[in-house]
Amino acid sequence: MSATAPISPTVAEAPARALVEIRRVRKSFGAHEVLRDVSLAVPEGTVTVLLGPSGSGKSTLLRCINHLETIDGGRIIVDGELIGYRQAGHNIHEMTPKQIARQRRAIGMVFQRFNLFPHLTALENITEAPIGIGGVPRARARARANELLDRVGLAAFAGHYPAQLSGGQQQRVAIARALAMDPKLMLFDEPTSALDPELVGDVLDVMRELARDGMTMIVVTHEIGFARGVADQVVFMDGGVVVEAGRPEDVLDHPQRQRTRNFLESVR
Ligand code: ADP
Ligand code: MG
Repeated sequence: MSATAPISPTVAEAPARALVEIRRVRKSFGAHEVLRDVSLAVPEGTVTVLLGPSGSGKSTLLRCINHLETIDGGRIIVDGELIGYRQAGHNIHEMTPKQIARQRRAIGMVFQRFNLFPHLTALENITEAPIGIGGVPRARARARANELLDRVGLAAFAGHYPAQLSGGQQQRVAIARALAMDPKLMLFDEPTSALDPELVGDVLDVMRELARDGMTMIVVTHEIGFARGVADQVVFMDGGVVVEAGRPEDVLDHPQRQRTRNFLESVR
């Protein structure tokens, strides 16, 4: 086995079908190969935590799943649908723009920066896409937004503008906004790393509850406690490859690779 071969690229005992299958994905920016032969499977209803040092390709991988980047090789299959890829400069099995738009609507994404519209209230931020893109009638979208605000602990803040909310509250609105499109998959890219430490817990609690409700999630985070408590699978990436993957108790407590051990020591 080569030094970079993953110990266990998939969750061996997972009974659920894979909602996301990533097979031998490659992605370069110019001459820089950012993803080199990445494979992983995310069973439906499970949580995968992606760990790795800055620059290891975590955000790029999430962005490829969500069609924000195209891949140069390999396959990404989301809910049975192949995402297009390029080989030798040709698009292969490219989904039509309509299919891509439909699939992107089914994938919620939450970024490090909350990206709320500053001129819209919390409620309006949440109803914007369902009304504008989803064609949901205004009254129904508003009722659902209020439910979602309640779910993220912000029932009393519907009329607040982002500037009137703390970073943690804004991030919870961003999660509610993503949920408003009824996604089948949620991608989180370091959702708490821009927050003051005292605000992190509430956001993680919302994510924990989502996981408990059976949402399929891929979460890039350095919150090891969250990974330990919530993840079904922990994937450690470095230098564009999956170095090690498996159950949290294995990867976090008994890492097999020196690179994983070094990283875990640096974030603890
Ligand atoms: P991570 O999220 O693990 O920190 P990223 O996926 O953001 O890593 O980045 C991986 C590497 O790809 C970094 O070296 C970064 O500079 C590079 N990269 C990311 N996006 C682009 C881009 N659009 N153009 C050029 N290089 C990029
Ligand atoms: Mg990143």
